[in-house]
Amino acid sequence: MRGTVVKLDRGFPLVRLSDATLVRCEHAKALVKNKDYRAVIGDEVEVDLPDGHDKGVIVEVAPRRTSFVRKDPAEQSRAQVLAANFDLVIVAEPLVQTNLKRLERELVLAHETGAHVAVVLTKADLASDGGEVEQARKAASDLAGHDVDVLVMAASDAESIENVRQLIPAETTAVLIGKSGVGKSSLVNLLAGSELQDTSPVRERDGKGRHTTVDRVMVRVPGGGQIVDMPGVRGLGLWDADQGISRAFRDIEELSAQCRFRDCKHADEPGCAVLAAVEGGELAQSRLDSYRSLMTELEGIRARREEARHLRGEKASDRKKRRRRNG
Ligand code: GDP
Ligand code: ZN
Repeated sequence: MRGTVVKLDRGFPLVRLSDATLVRCEHAKALVKNKDYRAVIGDEVEVDLPDGHDKGVIVEVAPRRTSFVRKDPAEQSRAQVLAANFDLVIVAEPLVQTNLKRLERELVLAHETGAHVAVVLTKADLASDGGEVEQARKAASDLAGHDVDVLVMAASDAESIENVRQLIPAETTAVLIGKSGVGKSSLVNLLAGSELQDTSPVRERDGKGRHTTVDRVMVRVPGGGQIVDMPGVRGLGLWDADQGISRAFRDIEELSAQCRFRDCKHADEPGCAVLAAVEGGELAQSRLDSYRSLMTELEGIRARREEARHLRGEKASDRKKRRRRNG
């Protein structure tokens, strides 16, 4: 039977089958043996229900359309998939004292997944007046660019919740990220309305007692799609974020093609199409500043990594072997 993983329940995927029943599953031995492939929240799976067995057995995991990957900066080769098959990443930031540096990184992380991206500025009721709300909205919107919707919400404002719900039409799945305390679980509860859900995150330790993970639950939005709160997304380092930066700043990268110099840094070069767009008011200066500082940071990270490899005397062929081993 086909199903979707809606929760990881103490390491056992909880699968919602096509007939809406929930079944706790384990992985077929063959699945885990051949490749280190474990189902994550959002995965589409094929489940066997053997007679007299208390759990379902996941025999197949469908290829992922999108995935949220946590990369471990200490172990470049290890990447952990946190969620799969979502259409939209909603970045939540508080409207009052928005941390634009954090938002900039969260946007890159969100774009890196390949899904659409939106921003929700939370707790708008804490703003002193409409002017402050508009100022914050504009700052976030300038930074996020034209392709990203920026919504303003407050838990007490039903219309603002409805606007968020409109971002998640039926048959689509959204992932919600943002720092703890920003109002993510409140938002999920308001979107889910009366639908019963387990909002208390269950903390678990793995066998080695090293990491702590927080359970994620995929929740149905009545009249809409589904939403997953991802409390575990932290550590917004920029290793291997080049794809995310390219997607987050697609407009700037497209403009760059028209700059006179191929290696234009868009700082003070003549014939710079990006600076011309800032001049013409189509691109916010803050967005360009953000792009340039992220690129400089990424280049620094790359240079340091290359140097470290060099010092270790590591050959490219060794790296490939290691990657293959870790799948
Ligand atoms: P999470 O850690 O991101 O899931 O944040 P929570 O949803 O748990 O919210 C953190 C705190 O902010 C709680 O005390 C909420 O009651 C409060 N909160 C959530 N939404 C709003 C809002 O729109 N306005 C105000 N003033 N407080 C809110
Ligand atoms: Zn330029």
